Amino acid sequence: MRTRYGVSPWIDTFPTKRRPDHPRLRGEHTADVVIVGGGLTGCATAYACAAAGMRPLLVEADRIGQGSAGRSAGLLLPDPGVFLRDIASAHGLRAARRIFEGYRKAAFDGAATLRRLNVRCDLTSCDDVLVAIRDGEKDLRRERDARDAAGLDARWLGAQSARGLLALDASGAFKPGAGVSLNPYRACLGLASAAKTRGAIFFERSPVKKVRFGRKQADVSLDGGIIQAQTVIITTGVATAEFKPLRRHFKRRETYLVLTEPLPASMRKQLGADDVTVRDMASPRHRVRRTKDGRLLVAGADGDEPPARQRDALRVQRTGQLMYELLMMYPAISGLQPEYGWEMAYGETADGLMYIGPHRNYPRHLFALGSSGDTLAGAFLAARILARAVRGSLDKGDEVFGWTR
Ligand SMILES: Cc1cc2nc3c(=O)[nH]c(=O)nc-3n(C[C@H](O)[C@H](O)[C@H](O)COP(=O)(O)OP(=O)(O)OC[C@H]3O[C@@H](n4cnc5c(N)ncnc54)[C@H](O)[C@@H]3O)c2cc1C
Repeated sequence: MRTRYGVSPWIDTFPTKRRPDHPRLRGEHTADVVIVGGGLTGCATAYACAAAGMRPLLVEADRIGQGSAGRSAGLLLPDPGVFLRDIASAHGLRAARRIFEGYRKAAFDGAATLRRLNVRCDLTSCDDVLVAIRDGEKDLRRERDARDAAGLDARWLGAQSARGLLALDASGAFKPGAGVSLNPYRACLGLASAAKTRGAIFFERSPVKKVRFGRKQADVSLDGGIIQAQTVIITTGVATAEFKPLRRHFKRRETYLVLTEPLPASMRKQLGADDVTVRDMASPRHRVRRTKDGRLLVAGADGDEPPARQRDALRVQRTGQLMYELLMMYPAISGLQPEYGWEMAYGETADGLMYIGPHRNYPRHLFALGSSGDTLAGAFLAARILARAVRGSLDKGDEVFGWTR
């Protein structure tokens, strides 16, 4: 079998004929709310605004859902993917607790929304398990204790139960809670479709070039078009060129992903429970999940964004390395072939969390930028906060997710 490199299997396997096609934006438009960026964050925000009775207009530079969200591992976990201890020492325990509770609720609400809207995205419940293999147990135990003391879910699994459950050479593990795995591209398209049904308007292949703001409105300029808006929501993953002063908040990184061929039944039996998502303590960490059609997906080998000329070689090298590391974790998969190998770009923030909310230097703007590691929950968290912000009714506690935290 030949590995397909550089393409996300979620996008690759979606029937071309069923892929929605939105027009390019041309001419003059007006809207109360303009959303720039049609990834999961933009689509979830468009849905939240439309469901609240607004008529948002979303502009996507390329195609809906084909940025980072459609290339991600598809995990909607109740945990932001950083350590509570780190967030508490950076922002204080109260803020940290609120942040962790916010992500947990967002993961729960996100899954409930996708279910309620009947979005067919292979939504599957899974336990989220953080595991120490050989080393890292002490750190993991400390993190578990910190979460326990803060009143957050953190069930410890001793080495024996962890080995039984995960079929890994584990020295300890804990469960921050339960989440879902899903097909993130289908989730994006489903949310976009639900937003459109409620009055949202979508444009594709329409990169925003500039946003000018005055006291009364903002002007969003594109090649061949302009939109006059009351509020502009930026969900472009990282700050784009027109927000130069904000770019220093993001380090451009890439994570690599491998999806294997379907596991033969004999192999599947040797890999422990299949409704579990495993994240280890390696640096960079591995995230392993199963897909609904019985494959293994592993993500990791994160590094700084490489120059374009090195990208192809690095992709082959890093995904090969990931496959080898997966084999070290699960010797039973010997002979299993990788079917897809690809990368996902992201903007790493100083504390590993998204920036969500207004910025004092940009009136009439709202932002949801940066990705929170390991989970798509940030998209749903941002959607809720931004829909509140547009209505001018931010909760007091929302500022812990913003630029001034
Ligand atoms: C280390 C790490 C690991 C992660 N692991 C996982 C994981 O295992 N599983 C998981 O599910 N999630 C994971 N995530 C999270 C996930 O990647 C992000 O939450 C998600 O991709 C964010 O989607 P988005 O909509 O914000 O950005 P994107 O999906 O990138 O969307 C941004 C969109 O904006 C558009 N755009 C850019 N500029 C313009 C412009 N000028 N005009 C108009 N449009 C524009 C782009 O074309 C793009 O479509 C991880 C994140 C990190 C940091």
